[in-house]
Amino acid sequence: MLKAKKGYFDSYGGRFVPETVIPALDELEAAFNKYKADKKFTNELNSLLTTYAGRPTPLYFARRLTDHYGKAKIYLKREDLCHTGAHKINNCIGQILLAQRLHKKRIIAETGAGQHGVATATVCALMGMDCCIYMGKTDMKRQEANVFRMELLGAKVIPVESGSQTLKDATSEAIRDWITNIKTTHYVIGSTVGPDPYPTIVAYFQSVIGNELVKQLKKDPDYIIACVGGGSNSIGIFYPYIERNLKSKSENNSKPYLIGIEAGGTSINNGHNAATLTKGKPGILHGSYSYLLQDKNGQIINAHSISAGLDYPGVGPIHSFLKDSNLVHYKTITDKEAIEGFHLLTKLEGIIPALESSHAIAYLKYLIPRTRKNQIVVLSLSGRGDKDINSIRTYMNKKPYK
Ligand SMILES: *Cc1c(COP(=O)(O)O)cnc(C)c1O
Repeated sequence: MLKAKKGYFDSYGGRFVPETVIPALDELEAAFNKYKADKKFTNELNSLLTTYAGRPTPLYFARRLTDHYGKAKIYLKREDLCHTGAHKINNCIGQILLAQRLHKKRIIAETGAGQHGVATATVCALMGMDCCIYMGKTDMKRQEANVFRMELLGAKVIPVESGSQTLKDATSEAIRDWITNIKTTHYVIGSTVGPDPYPTIVAYFQSVIGNELVKQLKKDPDYIIACVGGGSNSIGIFYPYIERNLKSKSENNSKPYLIGIEAGGTSINNGHNAATLTKGKPGILHGSYSYLLQDKNGQIINAHSISAGLDYPGVGPIHSFLKDSNLVHYKTITDKEAIEGFHLLTKLEGIIPALESSHAIAYLKYLIPRTRKNQIVVLSLSGRGDKDINSIRTYMNKKPYK
């Protein structure tokens, strides 16, 4: 499986954490290896994914979007229809079930846009666990509705006032809490980032997306596109195809052609973006070695993206490995193009997408003209756009109705 070997994906990953954290990582890894093969655990997980999260999510043929370009057939994997509006809940349910097996009473998490925070607070309410969410103060202002949602769900939201007061700083603060309370607390990391075994675990819990796609489509798509923040919805949908290609080691491992879309921000050339794999260099952040936006002295550059969920200067180590081994191809889409993608899907299909997912939609204008009519493109629609309508309104210079 897509699993770290001794904690690494080639040279990426590892555990760059204080020694006090190592026993908790070992304990988590042992629990994961034990329970992922445990009938009772997998039954409980699958039952919650089905009856609570709303899986399997539909694979939808986007007829009007397909006609718009007049080439390959475009299908959307509808993670936006998951409970709480994005793929994040798949991983939260899995990790919190593991935390229960480890007899942890308290859950902490970091959040940027608030999507991972809301998903974590939701599953904590469901399972009756204490929940503490770290969130940058800037993000709390940007995503006020999600802060209130978390509070309604019974979580404590802790404002982080250090650094740029966004996701990177919230993550650092959550790690600090975890180190202090490691005996009683499980840290639910929201993407395929962090020290080993987190990237392996998150990728595994998100692989449900790709595994469903294999059954729903019954044949290989020609292309799969997904946006890349930390990298969890993309790994989730790519998972079975990458596994198969890694196993077969055949020459013909180019199908499906896998494309990851990073946030190009205002421009790819002015440092005002979150295009980690395109513009970064390997370095260490939040416990693992991976591509990273950094200056020539190795200082981390603050990321920028119009979508808070992609606004992170790092990326999961699995993606660094996939980039170097050419198994996935990474491209960028600017803020402006993402907004165009947002409007395109909304008007043509009546689906309001998350700004993160809008980056993948926007890339269709580059991809589809190169395809043929009998080909199939699948796009991971990672989340819905309700959380983003205020950003869109600001961008369009529209005032709210009084
Ligand atoms: C969090 C989020 C992302 C980015 O995270 P990944 O781990 O890269 O998937 C993308 N889309 C939505 C809707 C999100 O909430």
